[in-house]
Formats: sequence, C-alpha cells, structure tokens
Amino acid sequence: MAKVALRGVRKLYGSQVAIESVDLEIADGEFVVIVGPSGCGKSTLLRCVAGLETLSGGSIHIGERDVGGLEPGERNVAMVFQNYALYPHMTVFENMSYGLRIRRMPRAEIAARVDRAADILGLRDLLRRRPRELSGGQRQRVAMGRAIVRDPEVFLFDEPLSNLDAKLRSQMRIELRKLHARLATTSLYVTHDQVEAMTLANRIVVMNAGRVEQIGSPADVHGRPASRFVAGFIGSPAMNIVRGRIDEAGVALPDGGRLALTDPALRPWVGREIEVGMRPEHLRPGPTDGAAIVATVELVEMLGADTLVHARRGDTQFVARLHEGEAPALDEQVGLTPVPGTLHFFDPATGLRLEPGRGDP
Ligand code: ADP
Repeated sequence: MAKVALRGVRKLYGSQVAIESVDLEIADGEFVVIVGPSGCGKSTLLRCVAGLETLSGGSIHIGERDVGGLEPGERNVAMVFQNYALYPHMTVFENMSYGLRIRRMPRAEIAARVDRAADILGLRDLLRRRPRELSGGQRQRVAMGRAIVRDPEVFLFDEPLSNLDAKLRSQMRIELRKLHARLATTSLYVTHDQVEAMTLANRIVVMNAGRVEQIGSPADVHGRPASRFVAGFIGSPAMNIVRGRIDEAGVALPDGGRLALTDPALRPWVGREIEVGMRPEHLRPGPTDGAAIVATVELVEMLGADTLVHARRGDTQFVARLHEGEAPALDEQVGLTPVPGTLHFFDPATGLRLEPGRGDP
C-alpha cells in the first residue's frame, strides 16, 4: 500500500486541454472517488496514474517513487475497467492467474493468491467456468479478483459498475466497501454516478471541465458545496438554485416571487444579486400564508417513502422532496419554506460559495 501524490498534473491532446492542473494527495489506504460529468477529464486523470497516458506537465508519486518515467507494469497498480476485459477462452482461474504467470510467479504462490481472492470474492465454485458462463456481476468480480491477486500498492477503478443493472450495482457497491474494509488498499475510483461517489468514498474529488471544483468528504461536498457546479451536481434531485436580489425582507425573485428570508446575516448584502440554493429535502410544505415560496404544483412523483413535488412560480421551478402523505395535489397552490440554516449562497459572477456574514459578494 502507498500514498499517491499528484502535483500540477496537466494533460493536453494536441491543443485541447483535457486536464488543466490537478493537485491531489491520496493517503495510504484511502478510498478516493473522482466524480464529474462526461468529458470532464476523470478517466484521463486515472489513466495518467496508471501510466496509460504521458503527462503534459506535473508529476505523480506512488509511495516515494516518481512514476513519471515508468511503464504501467512497473507502477505496481492494478486497474479494473468497466468492460471487465476478461479473456473469453480462459477459465476464471486462468483469467485471475494470467498476470502472475507472465511474471513467472511460482505455481504454488499463484494458487494461494487465486485461492485467497476467490474466497474474498465468493468465486470459489466458479474457477473452472469461462466468462460467457458468468453473470455480469460475476464477471466484474473476476475482474476485481485479477486485480487483487497482484497485491498492488494502488487499485485504479474506471467506472467498474457502469455495465451492471441498478440492483447489481448497489450490491456491488456494498461488496466494494467490504473489500476495501478488508484489504485497505489505496484506491482511486472514477465514476459519473454521484451515488457511487457518496457511498464509496472517504473523500470525493468533483471535477468539471478539466479542473477540480472541490475535494472533501461526502458530507462536505453535499453539505457545503464549494461552488454552484458542485451544488448542482451532487444530490438528487439537484439542488434548487434561484437568482434574486437581496432586499430588506429576503430575496426578490425575477418573476415577482420572493423568498422571505429573515437571516440577519444577510443584511450586509441588501441590494446585491445572489444565487440561493435550497435542497429539495430542505423545503417543507405548509399554508401559503407566510411561506417563503408560493408556487403551483405541476407534477407529483411518488417514489415510495418520498414524493417529489415539482412546482412553478412564474418562470422559476422548484422541486421539493416530501414525506408520503404530505404531498399536495396537482394544480394546487403550495407554500414551501426552507428549513432554517439550510440555505446555500453563491456569487452569480464566479459561481463560488458565499457565507452570509463573511465577506461581500
Ligand atoms: P471523462 O472520463 O470525464 O468522461 P475523459 O477523461 O475521457 O473524460 O476526457 C476528457 C477530455 O479529453 C474530453 O474532452 C475528451 O474528448 C478528451 N480526450 C480523451 N481522450 C482523448 C484522446 N485519446 N484524444 C483526444 N482527446 C481525448
């Protein structure tokens, strides 16, 4: 196991910038998830660590070694891909042991390592099968087994669960967590799925357009998003973000609506344009009289325990996550009020988080 340090990592394809400049330290045994929309550079970053791409600038250390000049096979990392990349003509045992055989490891050692990995992953009874005789989840476990037997310093995961159906994905998430609890191997994991990021990570790296937007614990990036981008990307359904002007009584919305906010910390901002973020689960329903937002219900989505209520005020749309039985009817006027202390504020010009009472927008 080892820590991993990325300093000023930069990657261009021709003149196109895929990664602008990334600094990231991953502690020994830590599970770090890189999340972001398609094309933001997360796979490229992972491939740089794996040695599958050459850097355009910066350095990568694994443990004490600068791995910049090292081939993938010399970096002591093991990568798990989305498409499993199993050899179809080999059995599970052969697939898992292949990398060790070409390194000329003694047979007894190979058998012991495959045995242990098969035990950990519940593959014991499948060792003689070929990939086509396995389910998607079993194939992905074999791909992980192949990484485990190498006993690498670092695991690199590139969207490993993306090809699985929703139920299997959530099972495999749990298995991955258990695996990490048991092996504690330093892991870097790439996904576009924020649920995967939230449930697997010790720390999350949110990327956007080749840059890091925020690095923090799942609780940090959800509870104190550093930017409007992070606020909109992490959390489902996405945070409501409305633009308005702060006045004596709250935030005046462009369509004549208003957020009745009484937080005294907002006083220094009176007269300023601002963006206000409200998580759907922080909007509580109530009578229209005295509510922060009064809006018309346009859609009610029953999710089981929760109900999503989509409501509109002029051109501004809101979504609230309500408990079963709280949901108003379609076309009804609903009053929605944010739970005190749950609002997020962003600078409309820079998109960066603002703290009321601290600094000036
Ligand atoms: P992500 O994994 O977040 O979806 P990628 O790392 O695959 O994003 O890609 C980041 C950017 O780099 C994208 O704009 C993509 O088109 C570009 N890119 C990735 N690989 C190559 C390549 N081999 N040649 C040229 N451009 C590439």
